[in-house]
Amino acid sequence: MKAAKLEELKRKLLEKRKELISEVRNSSSSSIEAGNEGTQDIADQASSAYTKEFLLSIGDNERRLLKLVDAALEKIRLKTYGRCEKCGGFIGEKRLEALPFARFCLSCQEAEERRQG
Ligand SMILES: [Zn+2]
Repeated sequence: MKAAKLEELKRKLLEKRKELISEVRNSSSSSIEAGNEGTQDIADQASSAYTKEFLLSIGDNERRLLKLVDAALEKIRLKTYGRCEKCGGFIGEKRLEALPFARFCLSCQEAEERRQG
């Protein structure tokens, strides 16, 4: 994969990560504001700290997605990004553009989904 393409996908992942975290921040701060003013600082602290508590406070879907995004960023660091975790083949740039945090190539993904029924 070209360095420029990798850079582009990395940027997408970082944006996705920011989006996920800010979604959580928006939903949690609005519920706090509804009941109590002046707790904004606490909400800010909670959302900037990437802690276990924070992960527990977000929904399963967001948590799952955030994990995938983090795992993909980690793979970029380890230079194993773009490889299927199952068969080791290339995931393919088109698929990664649509789904930058994909773990499997299309055929392994389909096999996985069939297996899970
Ligand atoms: Zn595969």
